[in-house]
Amino acid sequence: MESLTNRKKVVSDKPMTFMEKLYIPAILKGMMVTLKHMLKRRKTVKYPEETRTFAPIYRGMHVLKRDEQGRENCTACGLCAVACPAEAITMTSAERTKDQMHLYREEKYAVTYEINMLRCIFCGLCEEACPKEAVFLTDRLVPTQFERDEFIYGKDKLVESVDNRIDITKRQFTGKRTKI
Ligand code: SF4
Ligand code: SF4
Repeated sequence: MESLTNRKKVVSDKPMTFMEKLYIPAILKGMMVTLKHMLKRRKTVKYPEETRTFAPIYRGMHVLKRDEQGRENCTACGLCAVACPAEAITMTSAERTKDQMHLYREEKYAVTYEINMLRCIFCGLCEEACPKEAVFLTDRLVPTQFERDEFIYGKDKLVESVDNRIDITKRQFTGKRTKI
């Protein structure tokens, strides 16, 4: 049957010549390939001493944003979780009370919000789906861990601190507001 890829090779059973039996030409050919690669410019870097420059729209660890008054933007609508192809996001919601007006911008807020970083493929669809500009991917790396549980990121790791805001303006410009 004809192969789909057309990469099929017919194995020959013809007797080997004297030179082929010596294997020296084949060894020299192999060494030439090795030498050629040794002289080529290296494509690897000596991480962590050297690092590559990230693209401005690199998609790394998420952040849950606050507004100018320090209130959490997320309204626990669940659209990010629905959009997530890896089913990495889970949350529980509650109604905001009067004494929580300074904590949450919307009437409903996320009591818990978790992202499983082992499932996440950093596609950015959660960011695209969010109607409240609450979740963004940043240029921060998810650090390595020894335990699987440590890759479940809750609000303690995701919500930005009031005193240390994460700049997401590059993503806002290139992701959401680019006019096609
Ligand atoms: S970046 Fe993609 S995979 Fe990761 S949580 Fe968001 S939607 Fe899911
Ligand atoms: S991050 Fe955005 S999309 Fe996800 S639950 Fe909060 S408001 Fe909704």
